[in-house]
Amino acid sequence: MTADWSPETLLAQALGEIEPVYGGVAPPIHTATTYIRSADNSYPMGVAYGRDDNPTSAAPERLLARLENGKQALLFASGMAAAVAVFEGLPVGAHVLAPKVMYWGLRKWLLDRVAAGRLAVTFAALHEPGVAAAALAERTTALVWAETPSNPLWDVIDIAALAAAAHKAGAVLAVDSTAATPMLTRPLDLGADVVMHSATKYLNGHSDIIAGALVFPDDGPLYQSAKTQRHDGGAIIGHFEAWLLLRGMRTLHLRVAAACAGAAAIAERFANDARIADVLYPGLASHPGHSVARRQMRGGFGGMLSIRVKAGQAAAIQTAADVQLWKRATSLGGVESLIEHRASVEGPTTPVPGDLLRLSVGIEAPDDLIRDLDLALGRL
Ligand SMILES: *Cc1c(COP(=O)(O)O)cnc(C)c1O
Repeated sequence: MTADWSPETLLAQALGEIEPVYGGVAPPIHTATTYIRSADNSYPMGVAYGRDDNPTSAAPERLLARLENGKQALLFASGMAAAVAVFEGLPVGAHVLAPKVMYWGLRKWLLDRVAAGRLAVTFAALHEPGVAAAALAERTTALVWAETPSNPLWDVIDIAALAAAAHKAGAVLAVDSTAATPMLTRPLDLGADVVMHSATKYLNGHSDIIAGALVFPDDGPLYQSAKTQRHDGGAIIGHFEAWLLLRGMRTLHLRVAAACAGAAAIAERFANDARIADVLYPGLASHPGHSVARRQMRGGFGGMLSIRVKAGQAAAIQTAADVQLWKRATSLGGVESLIEHRASVEGPTTPVPGDLLRLSVGIEAPDDLIRDLDLALGRL
C-alpha cells in the first residue's frame, strides 16, 4: 500500500495484501514447519524453517511495523517473551532504569534478575521531570525502560524528553506501549529505540490469544539481538495465534476509539463522586500527566483507568464483587470490560494502594457500564 494511507485504512485492509494463489482477501493459515530447498541448494521463497519463518506471522509483523512507523517488527509467544528478548540482549551486570510502578509481571522478573546477579535495576518515578536525568547522571546505564500510560496508576511518561536524556547518557530507550496502542502514541517518532506490545491486549483485542511484539526503527543491533534471542530461545508465536492477531488488528482503530470514549465518560462521571477518593485517568484535566498526554497521545487517552474507593480496601473488593456487567478478571484491552482489585493480584510488596480498582473499558455502551458501577458503589 502507498506510503500515505491512514492507520485506519492500513488496518481495515491489513495492508491490502491479497493471498497470491487463489486471490483470497483474507490470508490462509500456513501450518508448514519447514520449506522445500531447490536442487541448486537455495530456498527459492526465502523461507526455510518455522522457528524463524512463517508467512502467517510475517503479515501482522509488516502491519505493526507500518503502524508504528518502524522498519522491523518481531512477534513473540507473549508480551513477556518480547520484553525478555530486549533484556537478554544486555551484557551481564548491565544497569537498567525502569519506572517505580509498572507492569507487575515485568517488575517481578527484573527483581528476580537482580537477585540472580544478572542485571542491576534502578526503579524511579520516570513520569516526574528531571528524575530520569538525575538517575542517569549517577550511574552508567545501558537501557531505560518506560511504560506509558503505566499500570495501574496511569502515570504518563514524556517519551521525547526521556529519549533525549537516555541518548545523552549513552543508553537506549525501550517503551512498553501496550496501553497506548499505535493508534494513540507512536514512540519511535518520539525518539524511542524499540517499542514493545503485549499483543494479548488491544492489538488482538478479543481476549483469546497470548502474544507479544517488538518494533524497531531500523535493522540495527537492537533488532538483530532480539531476532537472535527469538531464534535461539524459540519463543515464537504460533501460526493460528498469528492469524487471529491479524484478524483482530483489522478493527483496532474502532475498538480503541470506543474504549477511549467509554473510559473518558466513566472518568468524568466518577471524578467528583462522593464515594470515590480519586479517578486516575490521563484524559482528566486534573491528572498530573494530562499536559504531556495531550502532547504525545492523539485521538484519545486510552481505555484504561483506575478508581480509588473512599471507604478503603474491603469496600473496593466488595464493589468488584457487586458489579454484574463488568467482568472480574485480570488483563485488559479486550472488547469486554474488566474490573480488578490490583493489590490482591500483586501481593504484600505491591506499590499499588489497597483501595484501587483497575478498569479496562471494552466496547459496550458506556451508560450501561456507568450504571452497573454506580449500583455496586451504591450497595456499599
Ligand atoms: C499484559 C502486559 C504485559 C505482559 O504481556 P503478556 O502478553 O501477558 O505476556 C506487559 N506489559 C503490559 C503493560 C501488559 O499489560
